[in-house]
Amino acid sequence: MPDPVEKQAKPERPVVDRKARLAAPSHRPTKQKPDARIGNWDEVTNLFDPGIAMQEAARCIQCPAAPCQKACPVHNDIPRAFWMLENNDFNGAANVFRETSELPEMCGRLCPQERLCEGHCVVGKNALPVAIGKLETFVSEWQRANSPVPATPVAPTGKRVGIVGSGPASIAVAERLAKQGHAAVIFEAWPTAGGVLRYGIPTFKLNKPAVDRKFRDLEALGVEVRTNTRVGEDVDWAQLTAEFDAIFVGIGAQTGTRLGIPGEDAAQVLTATNFLVRTNLPESDLPESMREPLGSPRRVVVVGGGDTSMDCVRSARRLGAEDVTLVYRRTEAEMQGRVEERMHANEEGVQFEYLAAPLAVLLGDAGEVRGLRCQRMALGPADDTGRRRPEPVPDSEFDLPADMIVVAIGYGVDEDWGEVVPDMVRDRWARIVADPDTLQTNLPGVFAGGDDVNGADLVVTALADGHRAAEAISAYLATK
Ligand SMILES: Cc1cc2nc3c(=O)[nH]c(=O)nc-3n(C[C@H](O)[C@H](O)[C@H](O)COP(=O)(O)OP(=O)(O)OC[C@H]3O[C@@H](n4cnc5c(N)ncnc54)[C@H](O)[C@@H]3O)c2cc1C
Repeated sequence: MPDPVEKQAKPERPVVDRKARLAAPSHRPTKQKPDARIGNWDEVTNLFDPGIAMQEAARCIQCPAAPCQKACPVHNDIPRAFWMLENNDFNGAANVFRETSELPEMCGRLCPQERLCEGHCVVGKNALPVAIGKLETFVSEWQRANSPVPATPVAPTGKRVGIVGSGPASIAVAERLAKQGHAAVIFEAWPTAGGVLRYGIPTFKLNKPAVDRKFRDLEALGVEVRTNTRVGEDVDWAQLTAEFDAIFVGIGAQTGTRLGIPGEDAAQVLTATNFLVRTNLPESDLPESMREPLGSPRRVVVVGGGDTSMDCVRSARRLGAEDVTLVYRRTEAEMQGRVEERMHANEEGVQFEYLAAPLAVLLGDAGEVRGLRCQRMALGPADDTGRRRPEPVPDSEFDLPADMIVVAIGYGVDEDWGEVVPDMVRDRWARIVADPDTLQTNLPGVFAGGDDVNGADLVVTALADGHRAAEAISAYLATK
């Protein structure tokens, strides 16, 4: 697909004293101290102080080529926003982010900026990059606190779009179509809307009132959200196709991968999502079946090596576990998650057991979890992901004591979706097959995007899919 930034003429950028800006000191917002933060579920990183934010924005050298903007999957015009911010127009800066993103509050907090915008920041070649993510969070939160987020109602077109799932991809589709006057109705299986923004990402990375505010925006635009409604169970596909002119499927990738080892069915072995939602959310946000309290495990072992596993170990510390260990079959160098998250986990007292793979859950006489039997691994040649393959070391078994084990080794798309819509073409990993430009599936008027098409990915890539799908749905509706 052509790059929308490449297509445009290069914008005029203000002329600034680059040398002075490159020499200016960098700034980062303050954080809660590790000892304090493991005693609460509040966000770890504080918002920038306004004056400091202006100084940090003024480190941007206003490159006309803006590699940061190109590297951003939704192509936020970062230099333009930061020029406004450094010139005291916080509202204008927030609106620049909102031109291309429905979720700047979330992306600022959650994107892996080190491999997206900040990873391409020219200032970062010789110094710390401009703190793009933290500044995006700052301006969008400043706007929330000080001025209404603009929403202009438009005349209804009479066209209706059904949206399955309420994660970032669906949010983008709903907002963009509602702003064009189409009626958007979201169907969400969980009791509350937000997808992984609510049911997965811990509150210490993203506070849930930020998610509530987003849904209030959508409500103000006339978007209807039907929670506790699983398509395929509470409403069937035929009802959707009869009620709507077009459908967007944004069901995410929410099925936790299993370890496939003996003892895994024990009650104290939990999937990452089950553990995260029961630790981070109030009972009222959970379905009845998940309301049983987790108790107070003293020793928790988490298996995995990505950001979700960091969310789990850090949640375990906040739950009060004294001894929290991460088991990962490769070394830190092969870990794919954010460095910042690992640093936070380290600071919070998590132990890392690298080059170890689980063999069996150890159970007591009453079937309770007593520990995890592991085996040492060594790194062999690279596999098809380019990372060195872990290989078992003979006679290297060892046991880690544990009262609870959390499995955070990846997510896949719900296999059962094939039973809900048997005619929808999916690949061998159960991902929905959609046209890369329009995100149209093989079914007329049915579009899909986000993790259910890409596999487990990012908030911002789901948003980008939502943008392309909304454009294609809008074009499709115009033909009806
Ligand atoms: C624990 C965790 C931490 C993460 N941390 C980060 C992070 O820090 N940064 C980042 O960028 N990304 C992160 N991600 C990934 C990111 O959250 C996802 O890529 C993103 O949410 C995908 O958006 P989506 O719209 O495709 O689907 P989702 O957010 O998965 O939403 C899908 C929704 O569809 C609903 N649904 C499913 N089936 C049905 C049905 N049949 N009927 C009705 N509703 C249905 C689900 O209940 C869910 O609410 C994380 C993921 C997890 C699991």
